[in-house]
Amino acid sequence: MYADVKNQLAQELAQIEADGLTKTERQITTPQSAHIATTSGQALNFCANNYLGLADHPDVVGAARQALDEWGFGMASVRFICGTQTQHRDLERAIADFTGMEDSILFPSCFDANGGIFEVICGPEDAIISDQLNHASIIDGVRLSKARRFRYANRDMDDLRDQLEAARDGGARRVLVVTDGAFSMDGYLAPLEEICDLAEEFGAMVMVDDSHATGFIGEGGRGSHEACGVIDRIDIMTGTLGKALGGGSGGYVAAHSEIVDLLKQRARPYLFSNAVAPSVVAGSLKALEIARDSDEPRARLRRNAELFRTLMTEAGFELLPGEHPIVPVMFPGEDGARRASQVADAMLERGVYVIAFSYPVVPKGKARIRVQLSASHSEEDVRACVDAFVAARDEIG
Ligand SMILES: *Cc1c(COP(=O)(O)O)cnc(C)c1O
Repeated sequence: MYADVKNQLAQELAQIEADGLTKTERQITTPQSAHIATTSGQALNFCANNYLGLADHPDVVGAARQALDEWGFGMASVRFICGTQTQHRDLERAIADFTGMEDSILFPSCFDANGGIFEVICGPEDAIISDQLNHASIIDGVRLSKARRFRYANRDMDDLRDQLEAARDGGARRVLVVTDGAFSMDGYLAPLEEICDLAEEFGAMVMVDDSHATGFIGEGGRGSHEACGVIDRIDIMTGTLGKALGGGSGGYVAAHSEIVDLLKQRARPYLFSNAVAPSVVAGSLKALEIARDSDEPRARLRRNAELFRTLMTEAGFELLPGEHPIVPVMFPGEDGARRASQVADAMLERGVYVIAFSYPVVPKGKARIRVQLSASHSEEDVRACVDAFVAARDEIG
């Protein structure tokens, strides 16, 4: 039986390769950090989601190490059977406080948080209105629910109004508008104030996935809703512990207490998947404390992003505007995809690790190298990245 399948799969893999879409994985031989080594050499890393530099922070590592002694290695249980330690609840309360929500619930990942929430709160008589560029996990989670689906063009408030009208005219009981807080390919924030105004006008709820914002966007790092001045107007926040908040693993839904309580009864990835590991919980709790109590890593991250944007603009590169530490360096036009990937390769040869993105990940003609700044980069690191861009451009032409 497998012989036939083997041939079919081999053909599919060959097609992916022929289309130039094969993803290869570089193997890192060090902890995740600004300076890493891979099996092919040293590299300055500008492509991790390690925004606050907490992935190898000594206090985070120390808290996780101590938790191994204090709390053991694994939970060997889902939460509702015997997988909840007091520290799981401590982390959930800390997340709720930090994001300004009533309560929160941990999931094995944010992918699972988004996979679990929609079918619990939206049934066939309800409507979900989703930004076209929302994360894959939102798209999948919405598909798992039986709600009617509506989609609006990225950050397009006229289109959102049209979709809200369509949902209302369709007689929807509940309407939920869902958006990423920060879009990962552009670094653009969702216009949350306008979204909340429209949602209010139509009696809809608002859900924000702040995976690329929690910990570092907004004055206190509380997220895109803080940056947009709407902390009290969001109904549901989802997010990850796998990016700025230590980068371990795990995700969460922070929301009104009834929503959290219902998720504990009904959310399938919560009910049927193991509890987050004790050391990860302890490390994430420490990471969250650092994000909450210290402005310093956030200030360094902002300075790095600003310096990078200034130097790159001076050097004549075209950037997408903004303040997010995701900085897309654009390579427009027909051969943009090829040039972006050649520049990224040439930069890696100079020891600077960045990733080029092209169609179908981003629209045709909008190829880019996505640079991600971190608080763990020094000013020297940022300048070295810009120098590598200039040298690579000169080499590629
Ligand atoms: C990274 C990301 C996720 C997935 O987070 P995990 O915890 O790694 O599963 C979900 N949503 C958005 C917007 C993300 O950027």
